[in-house]
Amino acid sequence: MSTRPGPPLHATSGWEYKALFDATDEGFCILQIQFDAAGAAVDAGFVEANPSFTRHTGLRDVVGRSSSTLLANSEGYWLRVFGEVARTGNPVRISDRADALGRWFDVHAFRIGEPQHALVAVRFNDITERRRTQERLASVQRIKTVGVMFWGEGFSLVDMNDGFLGMMGMTREEALGLTWQQLTPPEFHAVSLQAVREVVTVGESMPYEKQYIRKDGTRWWGLFAARRIGDEVVEFVQDVSEQKQAEEALREADRRKDEFLATLAHELRNPLAPIRNGLQVLRLSTPPEASAQRTVEVMDRQLDHLVRLVDDLLDVARISAGKVRIERRVIPVREVLARSIEATQLAINARHHLLQLELPEQEIYVEGDLDRLAQVFSNLLSNAAKYTEPGGRITLQLSARGEQVFVSVSDTGIGIPREQQERVFELFSQVRDHQRHAEGGLGIGLSLVNSLVRLHGGSVTVESEGAGKGSTFCVQLPRAFVAVAAAAAPSEATTGASAPAPRRLLIADDNEDAADTLAILLRVEGHEVVTAGDGEQAVEQARSFAPDLAFIDLGMPGMGGLQAAREIRRLPAGDRIRLVALTGWGQAADRERSRLAGFDLHLVKPLSAAGLREALQLLPPKR
Ligand code: ADP
Repeated sequence: MSTRPGPPLHATSGWEYKALFDATDEGFCILQIQFDAAGAAVDAGFVEANPSFTRHTGLRDVVGRSSSTLLANSEGYWLRVFGEVARTGNPVRISDRADALGRWFDVHAFRIGEPQHALVAVRFNDITERRRTQERLASVQRIKTVGVMFWGEGFSLVDMNDGFLGMMGMTREEALGLTWQQLTPPEFHAVSLQAVREVVTVGESMPYEKQYIRKDGTRWWGLFAARRIGDEVVEFVQDVSEQKQAEEALREADRRKDEFLATLAHELRNPLAPIRNGLQVLRLSTPPEASAQRTVEVMDRQLDHLVRLVDDLLDVARISAGKVRIERRVIPVREVLARSIEATQLAINARHHLLQLELPEQEIYVEGDLDRLAQVFSNLLSNAAKYTEPGGRITLQLSARGEQVFVSVSDTGIGIPREQQERVFELFSQVRDHQRHAEGGLGIGLSLVNSLVRLHGGSVTVESEGAGKGSTFCVQLPRAFVAVAAAAAPSEATTGASAPAPRRLLIADDNEDAADTLAILLRVEGHEVVTAGDGEQAVEQARSFAPDLAFIDLGMPGMGGLQAAREIRRLPAGDRIRLVALTGWGQAADRERSRLAGFDLHLVKPLSAAGLREALQLLPPKR
């Protein structure tokens, strides 16, 4: 069948129709289909096209031209469709893609005019955007890893995607109409309600975690977030059950580690007491000159170290388990510092460090636990001693600004590289290059310091210019204020029962380091202290300074301690001075010798905290 051109359209239409034709949003054109001898549609000529045609297709000035010249790859599919319309006169309505234009169209085609003219009118709309949106929604529908729910009236499910159905183990029919209350275990109703409230008030919820109940009654963990759209709510959920399990496993492993540490520390601690007692027996029953005596001393020192490690371990385990309770009393920081120096003076002396103190005139108080705070600063001081080459300087500084108290411990030691400074407070962390300096530390001390300071409402920071430049640890604590009257007359609550009133004290020891640190310690406690390096000086100081109490080392060169004591006793006011012997020898015979020389008390070196207290208690109460 061949075709002849029909009469032009505008010749048969009124101008009103032409105006309508031009104004409409729909694309509109009239095609004349050309058939070959076999009756197959082979081309189409454009007889008419409105302005929207150009807008939808991007094709201009088409009238009078044919589709084969306009489109490089002619649209065989559409030609067949329109050919059918021209041949049969049956209109079609289809949505499909025009490959040559790369767009989707909603098309209505119908024959006009006489059949032999083969004219087809085509009305169409570009629905590419709508299609894209539909495709996007369809792909969301198929997504497996994110569940999507649509909540309608009364927060019941009106739609959902396959991902959500997979998570719930339900079919669409089973899920439709369910409410959040039916899906959520009772203990999570509160978080769900909160999310509902947020959606209603601000339009979307913060992401929140809760469990949902599957069809078979088992539960899964989801991370949910909801958003209002119109009068519906869309909610997204991701199954986080695996992460939750992993978190729980980690927490469990952590709990086990803490339990293990606690058990380990207990078990290690038990045998230590009998070993300590055994050493004491050995010490007393071995002749002073015997080389075994030195062995006992070494064992004693190592045992001290072991006890400290085990105690730290136990503390860490107890803090992790939340079992450490802080006693809260108002205490002068001086007293805390005195305790800490007392506990670390041996370590500081052993490495010949110079300890410097910078204390303010006025008394500064904090509220807390004397023992625990002392533990904080002894840890910092012993680290300073440990990580500083022998002969270094350690500075302990106390100050207060406003409501805060600052205590810093600085050293001239090996320093800490900047990138490691944050980490040193973590449990078991050690600076790698420092390993050779550590005498078997566990990396616990600073973590303990951090926890204890936090328990007191404070914080601890470290500063170091880097390797070899020394370190400064600064502890900040909330300041406590006491009424002047209470401060002037220290009560048992503020200073402890045994705290003595300030006295005049003499320390005689040829080991300058030992004398100096003991002096510093006693000065921190508020005493007036002088030192002497040998027996003669000791007697001279006793005469001119008239101390209330004198610590005298027995083994000094020149005039020994025993002779010095005898001479002091012969001074005019010599018998009111309390005399304390300090010596390495602790046998009954040694004690007897010092008693005969006029000593009131015989203490074995190294001077322990208990020994020091015993000595100070010799002093009669001050009037
Ligand atoms: P330990 O001393 O038992 O290793 P700590 O927790 O007390 O454990 O300290 C952690 C690490 O911090 C130490 O191993 C050391 O590397 C570093 N460190 C602590 N104090 C100092 C300091 N004053 N100077 C240099 N490094 C320090």
